[in-house]
Amino acid sequence: MSTTTRFIHQSKTPRIVFGRGRRREVAQELRALGVRAPLCVSSPGSAAAAAGVAVSLADGSLAPAATSDRARMHVPEHLVDEHMRIVEESGADSLVAVGGGSAIGLAKAVALRSGLPVVCLPTTYSGSEMTDVWGVTKRGEKRTGRDVRVLARVVVYDPELTDGLPRSVRGLSGLNAVAHAVEAIYAPDTSPLVAVTAGEAIAVMIRALRGLDGGWNDRDRDDALYASWLCGVCLDSTRMGLHHRLCHLLGGRFDTPHAATHALVLPFVLRHQEPGLSDAQRELMARSVNGGDVCTELLRLARAFGAPSDLRALGVGVDDLAPIARRLAQEPPSSDGPTGEKSLLALLRSLHRGRLPSPIGPGYDGRVSH
Ligand code: NAD
Repeated sequence: MSTTTRFIHQSKTPRIVFGRGRRREVAQELRALGVRAPLCVSSPGSAAAAAGVAVSLADGSLAPAATSDRARMHVPEHLVDEHMRIVEESGADSLVAVGGGSAIGLAKAVALRSGLPVVCLPTTYSGSEMTDVWGVTKRGEKRTGRDVRVLARVVVYDPELTDGLPRSVRGLSGLNAVAHAVEAIYAPDTSPLVAVTAGEAIAVMIRALRGLDGGWNDRDRDDALYASWLCGVCLDSTRMGLHHRLCHLLGGRFDTPHAATHALVLPFVLRHQEPGLSDAQRELMARSVNGGDVCTELLRLARAFGAPSDLRALGVGVDDLAPIARRLAQEPPSSDGPTGEKSLLALLRSLHRGRLPSPIGPGYDGRVSH
């Protein structure tokens, strides 16, 4: 059954190179782009992976112009200034980001100013490598925008680069990715192609994350990275809805950790959106958990990977809920779920208590399934 009958679809995706060991092909990808002196950026956590990539780049006519492992969450503007100076002084002609959303975000912000082409080697499942969205933070304010200059020219997905990810980072990052696919299913600008992509992405990522319970094998790691690519496609193809707006708001106001916030919030927002979903959309989600309740499974996984139990654990007070609900209600709704201030407040109260409403009935009436 199709999930939508009226749509526009437009693609602008980077070249994708996927497979174990394929990080060693970055030199030839750079040559194909006509560049020979990249600035390699990473975060402290992905620095070891980046060092290996940098070594493989020192090859005949090609060598890194400079390396940096100073990327940080939310791209502080002073780091962009600093890396622009490195570009100018080193003569770098391209940017290679090895890491999660922080390293990729820094490369994108430098690309926005310098116009240099970006090649990404993701080591988490954030999906940033697939989007033309940039963000820069100055004095606690994060400015974001879309610009084709920041879109990666090539993305090399090498699952071996994710081998060193701590269990919790892996699990929470995977759930962050699932959120992109879930919101793409009910986005007003979704398309049948996006819906199929999202259904596959959710099913494969959930199956791979379940593999963590029994210890990961190569197939789980390959599958998770494959699913994160699909989730990134979903993120770039549609306007994200209530879930992403709420996580953005919490991140901005309370400086909450990115992936952990997504992992906690997702089951609650999806439960809130359920009444507005079509049968086909519901079916697509249920298929990803073999007909079970997807919200319950997402919450179980979030807890298994150490997500905060509720909004209180993220430093959000009960008095903060009404202003957040008001702010969300003021923004134009981008999905079919209930968007009135009262129902948003009920959603936030469930999240604050960490008690997921039952899937049956009108919701938010105190009954809990978890
Ligand atoms: P992150 O890049 O900070 O990585 C999370 C943690 O994992 C960090 O501590 C990092 O050092 C560590 N890590 C990364 N690779 C590792 C490896 N190979 N081994 C061991 N540790 C490793 O965070 P993230 O969750 O990947 O991304 C979050 C950031 O990305 C946020 O700033 C968010 O706003 C941004 N983001 C942007 C977009 C977009 O489209 N612009 C999309 C998603 C996320």
